[in-house]
Amino acid sequence: MSRVADSRVPRHFDLQPIHEGAADASSYPIPGYLLIKLASRCNLACTYCYWFRDGTVYETPSVMQVDVEYALVERLAEHIACHKLSSFNCIFHGGEPLLFPLRRFERLVQLLAEIGQARGCKMEFSITTNGTLVTPEWARAFQKHGVEVAVSIDGTEAMHDRARLTRRGLGSHADAVRGYRTLCDHGITPSVIAVCDPTSDPIDLLEFMTDSLGCTRFDVLPPDLNNDDTIVSIAGYYIHLFDAWYDRYLGRGVRIRYLYSLMRGVLGLDTNSDSMGYGPLHTISLGTNGSLEPNDVLRIGGAARTTTSANVRSNAIVDVCREPTWQEAYSSALKLASACESCRHRSACGGGHLSHRWSDARGYENPSAYCADLQQILDHVWDRVASDVFLNHEGATMSLKDARALGIA
Ligand code: SF4
Repeated sequence: MSRVADSRVPRHFDLQPIHEGAADASSYPIPGYLLIKLASRCNLACTYCYWFRDGTVYETPSVMQVDVEYALVERLAEHIACHKLSSFNCIFHGGEPLLFPLRRFERLVQLLAEIGQARGCKMEFSITTNGTLVTPEWARAFQKHGVEVAVSIDGTEAMHDRARLTRRGLGSHADAVRGYRTLCDHGITPSVIAVCDPTSDPIDLLEFMTDSLGCTRFDVLPPDLNNDDTIVSIAGYYIHLFDAWYDRYLGRGVRIRYLYSLMRGVLGLDTNSDSMGYGPLHTISLGTNGSLEPNDVLRIGGAARTTTSANVRSNAIVDVCREPTWQEAYSSALKLASACESCRHRSACGGGHLSHRWSDARGYENPSAYCADLQQILDHVWDRVASDVFLNHEGATMSLKDARALGIA
């Protein structure tokens, strides 16, 4: 990749520089992740999608506006320089991000890479796609620019097409798998993100992912719901999934992120996930209209959860940290709901994903909508794992489970 000066940004899009140091973000972590909404629309109409829970999405431009693209490049250059960042993570997202023109995507990634190079900052790029619009040209672009790709595939055709429908109500499994295989054919190793169908057999999912797709790195997430929604129990599903994975797939190098997080949580380790455990809110979303917002998944509580007055055209990136919705989410993520404070799983669970804690009556002051399920799942994971982990106490080797029973661990 050749190094080109930032002056490639057309001057008529040039903005007044903003000196980020003036922004008082000293009480917050400096943002190192940006979820960049290349498109606010999607070619699919998945039944569980949080993004289209209300119609406000349709009030924003369908794809990122050109002046927003250039404002992003300039603001990010200022942000990296001001905070002397050594790495920054750009996550391209939608809607369906491949609705964005490929030529503009390549130019944007190139410009972002160049501002990183010019400032000694490692730029990391990833994209989450439904896979149906992947072409050899897109695959080559991802390969060329080092973009990591995650494809949303919910498992077998029956599992996937239950919810992941086209706008005409047809299944999208065949196209998603074709897109996945196109990526593989171009030397990319995509990860897969599945949303679980708690009524399905998780063994079928495991076999499909590993034997049919050849995928060893994937995630299986609960449907995104809040405390005002009707919940279908996920406990039996995840317990079955965990047992099959732990007994038969873990040793084969199959990594399922959510299950790793559960396991790390019960062992008292950092869960490395925002789905489980404590952790500050890192990710900022950039809308197609330039809006800077808290993590987009908080829309599960309604569009008002992410609305701010900050825009990349006129604000520094850190300015979003002053916004009430960002501060509400940030402080809520760092403290448990009072109902969680005496829970035996509080450190592993941390109240679950912040968005799942929402209710209109109490805001984030709730346990997870999946609380009862999480308790069962974490009890089970502890039972399985704690017998297999050994520690040495005053010369005696014992399982973690025995140590806990003796009050040592
Ligand atoms: S299991 Fe329930 S009560 Fe315990 S920390 Fe998680 S959400 Fe809170």
